[in-house]
Amino acid sequence: TPVLLWFRRDLRLSDQHALLAAAGEGPVIPVYVLDDETPKHRKMGGASRWWLHHSLASLDKSLRDKGSRLILRRGKANEELAKLAEETGAGRVHAIRHYEPWWRNAERAVAKQLDLVCHDGNYLVPPGAITTGSGTPYKIYTPFWRALKEHMPPADPANRPHDIPAPSNWPKSDRLEDWGLLPTKPNWATGFEDWQPGEEGARNRIESFLNHAAEYDAQRNLPSVEGSSRLSPHLHFGEVSPGYVWHRSWQAGGSVDVFLGELGWRDYAQNVILQYPEYGVKNGRDKYDALEWRDFRSSTVRDEFDAWTKGQTGYPIVDAGMRQLWATGWMHNRVRMIAASFLVKHLLIDWREGERWFWDTLVDADYGSNTTNWQWVAGTGIDANMFQRIMAPLTQSEKFDAADYIREWVPELADLSDGAIHDPEAAGCRPKAYPEKLVAHRAARERALSAVKGL
Ligand code: FAD
Repeated sequence: TPVLLWFRRDLRLSDQHALLAAAGEGPVIPVYVLDDETPKHRKMGGASRWWLHHSLASLDKSLRDKGSRLILRRGKANEELAKLAEETGAGRVHAIRHYEPWWRNAERAVAKQLDLVCHDGNYLVPPGAITTGSGTPYKIYTPFWRALKEHMPPADPANRPHDIPAPSNWPKSDRLEDWGLLPTKPNWATGFEDWQPGEEGARNRIESFLNHAAEYDAQRNLPSVEGSSRLSPHLHFGEVSPGYVWHRSWQAGGSVDVFLGELGWRDYAQNVILQYPEYGVKNGRDKYDALEWRDFRSSTVRDEFDAWTKGQTGYPIVDAGMRQLWATGWMHNRVRMIAASFLVKHLLIDWREGERWFWDTLVDADYGSNTTNWQWVAGTGIDANMFQRIMAPLTQSEKFDAADYIREWVPELADLSDGAIHDPEAAGCRPKAYPEKLVAHRAARERALSAVKGL
């Protein structure tokens, strides 16, 4: 009897334990269900949908090279899988386990109707598996990472199966083109030029990163330099396993510890949402529930939020980041921190609004990583700096030498000198085309501090 292979954020053939198990059991029917119902208000955002389209096309092609193919269905995952099982006579479903609360719900629902077998492999260590001496989950990154490292290296990544047994009849499939995953704005329909979604693109990205991985520690905080790996969307969609990334970077040699520590943050974030499924709406620390954010129904606040999304805040580093995000679906990590902090502390707008914007516009939008990082920056998280530590965007911009980055993304400022470009207003050379600051740094700082006083 055929078995179903349920793909979600694990769109690869290598080091794919659900695939290996399925291929060993009988004819395999690989299926992807576009489920916009189970996640409710967490359905996939626009930039992710663009990525998904191309990643699914690439996966289908790889499957076809092995005599298989990808069946596409749209609807509630458990219902669609049950229908497909009935049509094909399949009994068992193999899948990689996921940790978003809606995927855990879907897994429970599938398991009620079918024989669901879940496998690990999207994280270095299965989330939830590492606990403190007293058996409780870690809440703080540093001890978590120390404990995680004890379990490294991960198992040697298994190879792709030689062939994937096909059923004698293929069930019908939707056409990818009919799903309308490709957004029409801004110019995403033509694609974000720098990306190559899919397993092959992920491999290419790793190899090109390894050429400069030795400089990672020194360069990763410099937005003007391509110092980091840009693997995040590939990892999010599971086009490569973190185990493979780990092994490949060790083989390549050099000092990759800091880089691997960042992969550790990715694991950590899943452990957070496993403990706090509502981390996208609830503060990690309750005392911040009493914080009075500026009222999002007020048109002034809405206008300021819009200016932030469009990169029109008058703070060049923030604007460069927000425009990079809109144009490419990705933003440099240092700048994500600065831009997020600006929204939360300088504009005193609820972190949840910013998190939702990122959710829609990032190609690597990930429930665990996005909410954990937003709450970390906002100071509301279980592992976060005090809210009172307020980043000074202009100082950060100078310190991390963002002049060329600003020139690239804020062309109105391209002609300014390195000295003036971080704060054109203060240097007395703000071009007319560039907005005044939405709020002065010192006034914003005081407003933020008084908002948390007494909490
Ligand atoms: P590298 O520096 O090359 O790191 C390698 C990999 O480690 C990344 O691909 C990523 O998978 C992981 N990683 C690195 N930093 C972090 C981190 N702080 N938290 C979790 N994983 C990390 N990352 C996402 O993948 N999805 C998100 O939705 C997301 N939202 C963020 C929101 C904010 C406000 C901030 C400050 C950070 C967010 N990050 C998110 C984390 C980080 O910015 C990106 O993972 C990183 O910039 C991706 O670039 P890279 O692949 O070149 O990273």
